[in-house]
Amino acid sequence: MTGMSSAPSHVDLSVVIPCYNEEESLPRLVEVVREQVGAITDNYEVILVDDGSRDRTLPILRQVNAEHPQFRYLSLSRNFGKESAMLAGLSQARGDKVAIIDADLQHPPSLLPQMLPLLDSGEYSQVVARRTRTNDPPVRTALSRLYYRMMNRLIDVELQDGVGDFRVLDRQAVRALLTLGETNRFSKGLFAWIGFPTAVVDYENVSREAGATKWRLRDLFNYGIDGVVSFNYRPLRLSIWLGVLVTAVAVAYALWVLVDAIVHGNPVAGYVTTIAAVTWFGGVQLIVLGVIGEYLGRIYAETKRRPLFLLKESSNGPDDTPVTGP
Ligand code: UDP
Ligand code: MG
Repeated sequence: MTGMSSAPSHVDLSVVIPCYNEEESLPRLVEVVREQVGAITDNYEVILVDDGSRDRTLPILRQVNAEHPQFRYLSLSRNFGKESAMLAGLSQARGDKVAIIDADLQHPPSLLPQMLPLLDSGEYSQVVARRTRTNDPPVRTALSRLYYRMMNRLIDVELQDGVGDFRVLDRQAVRALLTLGETNRFSKGLFAWIGFPTAVVDYENVSREAGATKWRLRDLFNYGIDGVVSFNYRPLRLSIWLGVLVTAVAVAYALWVLVDAIVHGNPVAGYVTTIAAVTWFGGVQLIVLGVIGEYLGRIYAETKRRPLFLLKESSNGPDDTPVTGP
């Protein structure tokens, strides 16, 4: 048990922070967390997870840990994505309560004093923060509202607009999350899926402290598809109905052409309609194949049972750094 001797046996609050190329945000982050979390309890730990950053994030984390041992760090062997980084942090968190925040201070730790008492009351196992005003362009806001409306009709867990990964969990909720071993992690849905009484605290949107967001429109689009197919097989069912509908239309059209030929003596139907029908059916078939392929791909990924992240280094020291988790 070397390396564990300095660790306190009991930790009140763990703060998990995924960091991907956050060299610019880190100095301010450490300062703010020390000040604001330190005001809540002395008995806290911070788990900074370097998600395979290519900048100076890891050396900075080593240095932060040397200066403030309460700031522990993990370093993943490559960029596994925020979902895996959060999971790695959660798997190492020892606190009775665990908060998850972004490194760019878009999740203000100053909200924690409002969130934590709701957990302490024992009534709630999760407290989530909800963004109220966003500085996103109106088109993006409208699109995201539409997305949530559609999603909540499609999937079986309830997702809320403005609610992200900024939340605090009690031990029970953390344990529950760690039991979900799926490879395709759509954390928004997983947090909702585990259930437990959940409270919501509103906050005003803040802009990124430094650096740039790593999300592009394409990522958001893919994220949307992930959300839908991670949580149900309704798109497969929709494909069947689409097939039935298209077949019905095709049969009706064929009958009409037949009647037209017999009654009006017009045996040659239009070239344009033929081509349109052929291309339309081609399109429908490709879409449905895509839906099936999406699920097949997920089955493929899950059957490999690969670990969700690999650790290359941590503040626990070489002997106590597991290769993977949870
Ligand atoms: N992040 C990560 N791995 C990634 C991408 C992002 O750990 O592959 C972290 C990032 O360092 C930040 C948080 O996830 O702490 C949110 O990322 P970002 O601010 O880029 O997203 P946004 O706030 O725009 O949704
Ligand atoms: Mg951000």
